[in-house]
Amino acid sequence: MSIVFVSSLLYAESMFDAVMERIQNACDRAGRKRSEVKLVAVSKNHSVAEIEEQILSRGHRILGENRIQEWQAKALELADVEWHFIGNLQRNKVKYCLPFELIHSVNSLRLIDELQRIGESKDHVFKILLELNVAGEVSKQGAALADLEQLVDHARKQPNVALKGLMTMAPFSDDPEAARPYFEKLHTIRDRLMLDELSMGMSGDFEVAIEEGATIIRVGSALFKA
Ligand SMILES: *Cc1c(COP(=O)(O)O)cnc(C)c1O
Repeated sequence: MSIVFVSSLLYAESMFDAVMERIQNACDRAGRKRSEVKLVAVSKNHSVAEIEEQILSRGHRILGENRIQEWQAKALELADVEWHFIGNLQRNKVKYCLPFELIHSVNSLRLIDELQRIGESKDHVFKILLELNVAGEVSKQGAALADLEQLVDHARKQPNVALKGLMTMAPFSDDPEAARPYFEKLHTIRDRLMLDELSMGMSGDFEVAIEEGATIIRVGSALFKA
């Protein structure tokens, strides 16, 4: 084993362990159980070898991807993974999505319709989250707050779509505290809708998200060396 390999392995271990410790500390601060927060390790842009070395070798098997083609290539090589889809989903790709444990990024009536259509034809129930653009940013994928009620009603009518909760991305900021109002707001909306899951928090703000009630955090860059 080369020195380079050994040192990169140690570095990778410390990155994974550091994130796990930060999750635990945030749970402690918030008076929450660690088991209430699921870590989705976002493996986009990382090779199968990197994923194996830095994530799977640590015993963690919950991964998130945001592009279908990239995910398909990895899924062929990696067994026993709980996959989450977190990217913009085109309707013509829904037919590939049966293996996902959860689709975090549903944002339109037409996408819900396609999930129902494919789900029915394949006798499959898609578990989904509705992605909400809480901050109302023009550049973001999520649905507008004004459209949420209609999306929820529509999703709940589809027998092959199981609406589990809400997802959001906070506006980009160097200050994790800037995300707090958006996470707090999503939590309030989730409670009002009586849904279970709150997918919020990324590398820059996952501790704040845990404090604000996230049940799923999606962490990429903090887990992988650049
Ligand atoms: C890339 C991505 C993440 C992870 O982002 P990091 O800042 O690298 O942790 C989380 N959620 C979504 C939707 C993403 O596209």
